[in-house]
Amino acid sequence: MEKKRDLWQRFSGYLVVAAGILLLIAVVQVLGLNELVAAGQGSGVTAVTLTIEPVSDIAVATAVTLTNNLAIAPLPVLHDNSLAPVPNPHTYQAKMPTHNFKIHVVTDFDTPNSIALQYGISADTIIGGNANISRESNLLQTGAELIILPVDGVLHTVKPGETLDAIAALYGVSVADIIGFPSNNLEAPFLRLIPDSQLVIPGASLGQFTFRAPKSVGNSGGAQQWAVVGTGAYIWPVSGRCLTSYYSGFHPGIDVSMAEGSPVYAADTGTVTYAAYAAGIYYDYGNLIVINHGNGYETFYAHLSGINVYPGQIVYQGDYIGATGNTGRSSGPHLHFEIRSNDYGQNPLNRLAGPVRSCS
Ligand SMILES: [Zn+2]
Repeated sequence: MEKKRDLWQRFSGYLVVAAGILLLIAVVQVLGLNELVAAGQGSGVTAVTLTIEPVSDIAVATAVTLTNNLAIAPLPVLHDNSLAPVPNPHTYQAKMPTHNFKIHVVTDFDTPNSIALQYGISADTIIGGNANISRESNLLQTGAELIILPVDGVLHTVKPGETLDAIAALYGVSVADIIGFPSNNLEAPFLRLIPDSQLVIPGASLGQFTFRAPKSVGNSGGAQQWAVVGTGAYIWPVSGRCLTSYYSGFHPGIDVSMAEGSPVYAADTGTVTYAAYAAGIYYDYGNLIVINHGNGYETFYAHLSGINVYPGQIVYQGDYIGATGNTGRSSGPHLHFEIRSNDYGQNPLNRLAGPVRSCS
């Protein structure tokens, strides 16, 4: 009996150890093997925390404990992609745009159209590159420095959180067009936008220049007290009756064909409010005279070769004010004549007496 008890005492220790190992193997299988493989490849706590991302905190903690206890236990090696390193987003450095725009310094004689023509872009694009400038074509400031975009479009400043899709939708252009502009430096597939950087948006527009004659001369604020008021009846400003363009929604006046240098007369009594070169995106007036008749009506005389009045001057119906010409957007010598009532174009033929004919 003593021998038997000795034997039992001798082997009972081994049995406890064997049972413990079996228990640990069972726990390993229940927990899933991925974590422990990772832990086994490293040697302890640091390796586990670095390589295991998708498991819960509890599982990690258990794995760490088990790893420490199983320092020498061989573990199965798994072959799957679950532990492949994920791309680290911080290794991609977004590139700033590297634009190199031309700058145009506005001179006394510049108009939006003349600048646009000089650089082969549309007048819209001058606004597109310089969103802060006035849309009024005759308020272009001499000495102002304008960014000249290399293509027709808009220079957009990226706001925090803005996406390429949102910018494309804002301007009604495609994302591909924005990516395709080289100096935007947008590299697929990351396409990271940097707040406050500027992107060229090809094909986009922020609007067009307009032209509006000044309403008063030498009078700051308050209602203009006109020294003279028109008769309300209009005479023909030129001797010709041959029209190349009639009044329409796209053309706010009439074009009367006249030889270069023919005399132009005031259609009614009023005060000259504009007498200079002017331009607009729709109608490039060239040399322009505007007379305010003091009764809500104005008359416009455009494309002149000569101007014989000055702003603020009072003129009477029939006075000689200038000479016909071909300045501005004009394909031949003619007078572009408008009658506006409180800024709205009127058909001059409703107010001018006598028959007209179309030039052939
Ligand atoms: Zn016209």
